Amino acid sequence: MPDPKPPDDQRSLSQLTADGGPPWLKYVLAGIALLVMASVLDQFAPPPPRALSYTAFKQAVREDRVAEVTFTGDQIQGRFLPGKAPAPQVEPGEVSAPEPMAERSPDTGGSEPAGGVAFTSLKPQVSDPKLLELLEQHHVEVTAAPAGEGDLGHALIAIIPWILILGLFLFVSYRMQQKLMGGESGGPFGFGKSGAKRFRTEDVKVRLNDVAGLANAKADLAEIIGHLADPQRFHALGATIPKGVLLIGPPGTGKTLLARAVAGEAGVPFFSISGSEFVEMFVGVGAARVRDLFDSAKKSAPCVIFIDEIDAVGRSRGAGLGGGHDEREQTLNQILSEMDGFEPHEDVVVLAATNRPDVLDAALLRPGRFDRKVYLELPDRKARRAILDIHARKIPLADDVDLDLVAGRTIGFSGADLANLVNEAALLAGRRQQRQVTMDLFAEARDKIVLGAEREQAIGDDERRLIAVHESGHALMAWLLPHTDPLDKVTIIPRGQALGVTEQIPEEERHTYTQSYLRDRIGVMLGGRIAEQLVFGEVTTGAESDLEEATKLARHMVSRWGMSEAIGPVAFPRGHEHVFLGRELAEAPEFSDTTALRIDEEIKALIVAVEAEATALMRKHRPALERLAERLLEAETLDRTEIEALLKQATQANSKALRAAAVS
Ligand code: ADP
Ligand code: ZN
Repeated sequence: MPDPKPPDDQRSLSQLTADGGPPWLKYVLAGIALLVMASVLDQFAPPPPRALSYTAFKQAVREDRVAEVTFTGDQIQGRFLPGKAPAPQVEPGEVSAPEPMAERSPDTGGSEPAGGVAFTSLKPQVSDPKLLELLEQHHVEVTAAPAGEGDLGHALIAIIPWILILGLFLFVSYRMQQKLMGGESGGPFGFGKSGAKRFRTEDVKVRLNDVAGLANAKADLAEIIGHLADPQRFHALGATIPKGVLLIGPPGTGKTLLARAVAGEAGVPFFSISGSEFVEMFVGVGAARVRDLFDSAKKSAPCVIFIDEIDAVGRSRGAGLGGGHDEREQTLNQILSEMDGFEPHEDVVVLAATNRPDVLDAALLRPGRFDRKVYLELPDRKARRAILDIHARKIPLADDVDLDLVAGRTIGFSGADLANLVNEAALLAGRRQQRQVTMDLFAEARDKIVLGAEREQAIGDDERRLIAVHESGHALMAWLLPHTDPLDKVTIIPRGQALGVTEQIPEEERHTYTQSYLRDRIGVMLGGRIAEQLVFGEVTTGAESDLEEATKLARHMVSRWGMSEAIGPVAFPRGHEHVFLGRELAEAPEFSDTTALRIDEEIKALIVAVEAEATALMRKHRPALERLAERLLEAETLDRTEIEALLKQATQANSKALRAAAVS
């Protein structure tokens, strides 16, 4: 996620180094000038000659109207005597359906050019020995030209653009080649230029203070900051700076921010580029960019180079789908050789960010390269509060805002998500013309981020009722089953992809899950479908994603976490999560078909068992289900306190009634 406000004076390297106009500009200007000239010439060119049929031409000769003719092969070009040209006549229909030999008269506007109107005609392929005689009789001046010589001027105008295009193409490829062979930087369109953003020393305003949480990562980087800030002290001790540090963490956890803070804190320049920028269409460009980047950085040492998304170039060779392998490998090799080529006194630290350390090429991780790893984890509640504090400094908060509470309701948010949350809340305040950002707006912004934006969608009454029953089913299960996260919200307003949402929020983040928690979670997922079955007597397609999720969870329980007695404490993962698609790729499993079959049977058995328990429970509390559904139809959205009050009352009343029924 980009910074909300990048510094204004953050400029591209090429802009800083270019003085005067770029050298290729004159070629482009010359080309444009030629094209303009060509089109102007075309405007002043005489009107095109009239096309005459051979018969019409001979007729004109006989009538003494022709002044001169030129023969070029079969082509006849000539001029009428002044004032003797036939009047232009365009018959309707003649233009749209022209006969090749018919006399066609272009619109000359009536005025004749000096020297008489020009015409052309074609000699038929049969010999006409009398023609010359006829011409001489009527005193027509006859000229002959060697065949093949056309209208040179027009031909030139026609081919000039092509010559230009060809020239430009040759020029571009020449410059590219020069660039790839190690020429100076910049090209007609910046091929090979590093594209790195350079933040001059004073531009990096980020300090470690601006990075909340991440105490471990900061401690790991303290030594490097010290070295960059005062290299001489370390040189005197014979210590060399670590060359490469890998920042590992989920997206948005502040890897870029931390790298900038390292440069800012040490007071050194910061160069940054993204791995995906290296991967270009042209093989060799990425490597040239790497060379450029490192060259510039070495000149400004001590400094920090930051390579974002290094996995885009550094993923293990030969892995992954898609082409571009050559390009990636060349770029990767260039990075490696640049890092190997550092002199001990060159105090350049390369920080590289990735969220997929497992896919990186082993060569990148060797000693002397990216041999240090710094882990950035998702913020816990305290860190979330600290991040919120940093970002909320910039906006006017209303008195009712409790950032602790916001931090509590944003489990799983990354730093970038939290920055986004604050920004969304401020945007909402702006849209509502509020002077301050209130707690309501924080809640709204959070729901928008987590659940998706509310959607306008026409939904019929029957379907609304169905959705209300389905969501109530989820909610009731979450309420009744003992090992579930507390309910936070139930809504039948369409949001994002969903027609309705039941949301539970854990009290605190969990890192491990118990078997009973997971079982109950499947129960909650199935709750929607069970309620439909109970109330309407049949199920709908609305439970598709619930079933998918439940099955996925059950598969994990059975095949990865050893939670099925029949399968036992053995892990049978089915392939790895795929790097680019973010999903599991069907790899050949490392277990027998029999095992696969048993796993499938166990998954089904688990889900069916949970379903039976949940169904029994819901049957028992059916009045509560219906009351919740009714209330939901009225209110559309119910929050934590409302749901709790309603369900507590309904289930208690129900239990009493059940007990009374049992007694009587
Ligand atoms: P990454 O590079 O890990 O994807 P970034 O460094 O680009 O994440 O983070 C994006 C934005 O999120 C930052 O510019 C900052 O505004 C916010 N952010 C992320 N982590 C933190 C943090 N620990 N403290 C303060 N702000 C953070
Ligand atoms: Zn559902």
